[in-house]
Amino acid sequence: MNETFSLYRLQQLDSQRIQRLKRIKQIDQIIASDKVVLKARATLQKATDALNESDNQLDDLHKKAEEKSLKLKLTQSKLYGGKISATKELQDLQAESEALRRVIKTMEDEQIQLMEVNDSCQEAKKEAEAELQKLLNAKATENSLLMGEREKLIKQLPKINAQRDALKSQLDAKLLEEYDALFKRKGGVAVAEVYDSSCKACGVELSPTDIQLAANPNMITKCKSCGRILYKS
Ligand SMILES: [Zn+2]
Repeated sequence: MNETFSLYRLQQLDSQRIQRLKRIKQIDQIIASDKVVLKARATLQKATDALNESDNQLDDLHKKAEEKSLKLKLTQSKLYGGKISATKELQDLQAESEALRRVIKTMEDEQIQLMEVNDSCQEAKKEAEAELQKLLNAKATENSLLMGEREKLIKQLPKINAQRDALKSQLDAKLLEEYDALFKRKGGVAVAEVYDSSCKACGVELSPTDIQLAANPNMITKCKSCGRILYKS
């Protein structure tokens, strides 16, 4: 297999892929950075925070009420257990029971209030979500040209990815490793075409020997200036 050509082809596919991903991100940013949408997002965030806080308060109160109920049960079992006969002690237990009942009642009232608040928090969050979605839909229509472009780009990705994977599976593992390392180090361009006797990536003029070597499909030649793998068609 012509390895240099395969690497060049892989580079092409990677560049196509990156280009598309970049453009998709750009389109998403254009749509998401809309001021009205940002405001709706902030409102939703606020509503979400309020609901979370309300959930926590309810949870706390519920736990505290359970503790008091448990304590009441214990007091009651002491009171009616028959083991205590001293009047003073029984009176104290009776008083404690009543105090606990009052506290529990207050907590239950508070719980009802908190639940009402929680309901309205849930409602507010739902409304904020719906409002944001409505805006996003409106923006999508408004930006239908961009959205169309985005959709087209998304549809192209699986094919590019499949070709890329197929090509990668055929390449020598060590060579692929070298390609990946160069790709990362050299800003996404690991393979440079020889163009007009120069390295197309860095522009340096190449010697006739290097050009000849780059045209050899069975060996890897690198640009002496930028270190990228050279490809000559
Ligand atoms: Zn170069």
